Order: sequence, then C-alpha cells, then structure tokens
Amino acid sequence: MSLTPNEAIQYDQHLKLEAIGLKGQVKLKNARVLCIGAGGLGSSLLYYLAAAGVGTIGIVDDDVVELHNLQRQILYQHQHIGSKKCIAAKQQLMALNPHIHIDPYDEKFRLKNAKELIKQYDIVADCTDNFATRFLVNDTCFNIKKPFVFASVSQFQGQCSVFLGEEGPCFRCLFPYDSAMDALRDCSEGGVLGVLPGLLGAMQGAEIIKWILQLPDLLVGKLLMVDILKMQFKEYRLTQNPECQLCIYQQAINLPSKFNSNCNESDNLSDHCISANELRRELNKGEAVFLLDVRTPEEFTAYNLGGVLIPLNELSQRLAELDRNKMIVVYCKSGNRSIAATKILINQNFGVKYLQGGLIQWQELINAL
Ligand SMILES: [Zn+2]
Repeated sequence: MSLTPNEAIQYDQHLKLEAIGLKGQVKLKNARVLCIGAGGLGSSLLYYLAAAGVGTIGIVDDDVVELHNLQRQILYQHQHIGSKKCIAAKQQLMALNPHIHIDPYDEKFRLKNAKELIKQYDIVADCTDNFATRFLVNDTCFNIKKPFVFASVSQFQGQCSVFLGEEGPCFRCLFPYDSAMDALRDCSEGGVLGVLPGLLGAMQGAEIIKWILQLPDLLVGKLLMVDILKMQFKEYRLTQNPECQLCIYQQAINLPSKFNSNCNESDNLSDHCISANELRRELNKGEAVFLLDVRTPEEFTAYNLGGVLIPLNELSQRLAELDRNKMIVVYCKSGNRSIAATKILINQNFGVKYLQGGLIQWQELINAL
C-alpha cells in the first residue's frame, strides 16, 4: 500500500520528518487502533489519530452526547446533543480525513465483547472513565498480548502510561484492585478542567503513533503524572508488583475481582462495606435492607436503586427519617460520599454498610452479567 497524491499533500509535514517519511506514513495508514471511550480523552486522541492518517480506527462507546459533555469533549457540538457518540465521532473524523476508515461500535465494552473487539486491532487506547473497564482492558490486552495506552484525568491532574500487554508491569501492578477506587476519583464526581483530557488524550495519541512507527522511548514501565495547575510533569518508574495476580501469577480473571471480593478498606470500615454482588444477593433474597442514596436530587432523578434520598450535606439533620430496625446500605456514585455518610451513621450507632465502588461498580456488575 502506498499514498494517493491527496494523502501525500495532507501528510506533507510527516513526510518531511526523517523518523516518519513515506515508509512511516504507510505504516500509519496500515495501522488499526481501537479507542475505548469517546469522551474527553477520546475526543482529543481521535482527532489526532485521524489527522495523522491512522488508517483504521475503531470507536467503542454507547453513550449519547449531552450538553454537559461539551465543556471538554471537543469532538462534539450542540448539533450532536442526543446523537450517539460513536456515530457523531465518525462523522466529525471523516470530515477531517476522508482517507481513513472508522468502525463505530455502539456498545459497552464488557467481558462478553472485550476479546472479540480488541483482537481485530494492533493497539488499544484506554479512554474510559472507570476502573472496572480499565481492568477489563488491561486483563484482555494481557491475555491476548496487545499493547494499550492508558490515561486518566481528575480535577487538575492526569496520568499516562503504556503497557505492552505481554510482560509486566501491568495496570494491576500499578493499581491493586481494592485501593483503586480511592486512588482516583471519577472525573464527573470531582470535576475536571476541560483542557486536561485534551492534553492527556493528545499524549496517548503521541504514544500510539510512536508505537506504530516503532520509535523508542515509550512510556513503558513509567507513569507520567501531569499537574496542570502547577504545570508540572513528573515521571515515575513502574515496577512489576511481585504479588500481581495477573502478570506474575497469570491468574485467569473472569469477572473483575472486586465484584466478588470482600471489602478490604484501609480506613477501618472493612466491616461496613458491601460489594455490588453481595448487595444484589441480599436484595434478591428479599432481605430487609434500607437503601439510602446520599447523592444530589438531580443524580437521584437521573438514575437510582430505589430507597430514600438524603443528600450527604443534609444527613446529620435528617437522621429521624432512617429506619433503625433495618440494615442501612448507603450508596452514591463511586463510594466516596457513602463512606463519609457511613462514618456519620456509625457515630450515631446505626447498623450501616456502604456500597463499595458505588453505582459505577453496581452498573459494571449488571453490565458484566
Ligand atoms: Zn501486573
């Protein structure tokens, strides 16, 4: 395969680079990249991959564009609100570069389709916003020996790394499961500066292009931490965790372990948490559980597990609304607010547990079933 005259003009600045040239540009044209998640990170990454002439790009996302996405998800415009992200993304990218091929996948990335999707591509971009999916990307890539480029963002900080997928360190070396949820807050819960995913997505794009071109100095065995407020970039060396379940023990992981794990928190709340799977069993058995949602009324209206809504900031004043005869199970989006609520209720001698990993983990469990 070579380049058409129009492609040669479009990629003129690449052709002038000794490290790319015609040979490298043809490598980009022949490359197949799968982008999992077309949100903030994916927006910037996909634009640059398409502009660079990466020949085939898969986009996995079943979300719909919403108004609040437009603060950072630069692939989309007001006219796309209500459209499927993967379809809107394809339209935008084809308008930018009609010489490439885009495969949109209007589906969630889950255990059932993970291997089938990834095996069709050379390299994967992990542009997701939750840990359950990140672990699934890691485990699948490790098992079928595909490299992936990780990034995450929260508030004013981001991180990026490259995992080669067949040798450690792997993503599970970096985040042994139980600490992961606390280590990074979900961006929609803690907020994120809109430019940050743009920056990290562009970094993922650079690493993917370097990998395709077989250029040296990838972020393999390294974690780049970015603090955009201080405008600081720090690189940390990653070593293989000698107890890693995946890359050391090569343990086959079916469901991400947290769905079944007993809680193992470091802040003495280990007796007060319940995993998504355990809660599901309790509810199925018809146990007397008092579900308490401590999110905002807007979040509750959008989606809830039932039960009573008392936002965290009102909890101390509204304890009389709780039922002392039932086990209270507190939930929120990712677990942070419900941990705070659990501490309040323990001090008031309520029987209480919090849903580990919150609705994110609950939803991932339901999706994985
Ligand atoms: Zn590992």
